[in-house]
Amino acid sequence: TVGDVSISLSSDFARAVPEMAVSWEAVPVPEPVLLVLNEPLAKELGLDPAWLRSDGLPFLVGNEAPGVAQAYAGHQFGGYSPRLGDGRALLLGELTHADGTLRDLHLKGSGRTPFARGGDGLAAVGPMLREYVLSEAMHALGIPTTRSLAVVATGAVVHRELPLPGAVLARVASSHLRVGSFQYARNTGGHDLLRRLADHAIARHHPGSTHLELFERVVAAQAELVARWMLVGFIHGVMNTDNMTISGETIDYGPCAFMEAYDPTTVYSSIDHGGRYAYGNQPIVAEWNLARLAEALLPLFADDEDQAVSLALEALGTFDGHFERAWIGGLRAKLGVTGDVQPLLKDLLTLLHANHVDFTSFFHRLAAAARGDAEPARSLFLDLAGIDDWIARWRSLGPDADAMERVNPVYIPRNHLVEEALAAGSAGDLGPLERLLDAVTSPYGERPGLEHYAAPAPQDFSATYRTF
Ligand code: AMP
Ligand code: MG
Ligand code: MG
Repeated sequence: TVGDVSISLSSDFARAVPEMAVSWEAVPVPEPVLLVLNEPLAKELGLDPAWLRSDGLPFLVGNEAPGVAQAYAGHQFGGYSPRLGDGRALLLGELTHADGTLRDLHLKGSGRTPFARGGDGLAAVGPMLREYVLSEAMHALGIPTTRSLAVVATGAVVHRELPLPGAVLARVASSHLRVGSFQYARNTGGHDLLRRLADHAIARHHPGSTHLELFERVVAAQAELVARWMLVGFIHGVMNTDNMTISGETIDYGPCAFMEAYDPTTVYSSIDHGGRYAYGNQPIVAEWNLARLAEALLPLFADDEDQAVSLALEALGTFDGHFERAWIGGLRAKLGVTGDVQPLLKDLLTLLHANHVDFTSFFHRLAAAARGDAEPARSLFLDLAGIDDWIARWRSLGPDADAMERVNPVYIPRNHLVEEALAAGSAGDLGPLERLLDAVTSPYGERPGLEHYAAPAPQDFSATYRTF
């Protein structure tokens, strides 16, 4: 109860696996200032937006109720860390969503926890606004993701290369269970903890499933998720096993970005030196992470280890099929055609790559070509003979322009616009962020006055752009 408002937060996670939940309190925020609030999401969670804006603000920064820091492990860039955990985050508890299922209410930037290691436990306004806009854009694109409820400025100074204004993000997820949660359970608690964690995940996400079915469902969900990322040009940037959910929701919007010119080797994260998490590597990395999940779950699949391994391999073997179906099916939808289009797709990707064509603009402009005006799409290419030939082949399949416009976004959070909005937001002007949010949370269909939000970045920007 906060004042005369009562909120019912459950603690199913902490009850199921107390060994993985450290009770902890958020750092006090004497003068919280609300920067952005997701009113529709608040309402879905049964929270009154007017209250959150006023008396509820201390609740949004964790100052009304303690939470728990969750323990997890993870492979970071391929190397195993046995103890990561929420270093600067807290799970306040679970709320019941309007759809009847539970959602985690989670804070990021709420102060150091026992998992903080060398970190300060804090978050800066810029990166938290970034997570807000990117995650809400993904949601609007229909891609499973954690959601952003609010960003609240704390008034504290966060010391990075420069002093920055501090913030707390309130994040909502169907759970924060990660591949790394299972790695932690397997490696620290033995089979009993592992079983309780798996049973908790089943109750939360796939009631009635066996342990093997849970794994199969995570494989399917992650294969489809990564395909959907790639269909909009999303590069996650840090697909460590602690950043891969069991729910199949996208999580951790640190160094992610949307690809501009199509190129499978694209990397925006300044810490991804080897290109491990490049755009085109994402399916292979997801499969690698799922193999780590299978290793952790192995004792639950069968008593006999050889049998457990063969069941795990069989389930993991379904990844490629799930991915290909979602990826090829999605590309076909983007092109507004049906039937076997494999050679056409392959030739298109070759042309896009060779001509450095902006991925989002191409598919958006191609709808006009289905209606007879190829010029907007064709003008993106240097090899005009190549694209003319390709367009002629594609048109012979009778593409459906209306269907294309329903799946190809016009407005994505383009890197130069995100940076502009964050710089202004960090300096106290939230106007650019609000306008960007307005564009990317209704991504389909051109709207008058928003041309600026559909245009590719200036060349000199894209050449050097790095996140993180
Ligand atoms: P990430 O790469 O963002 O998934 O984070 C990896 C780990 O570092 C997680 O355990 C985070 O909780 C932790 N971490 C990141 N930033 C901080 C920070 N400023 N203070 C404490 N822990 C942090
Ligand atoms: Mg993370
Ligand atoms: Mg992060």
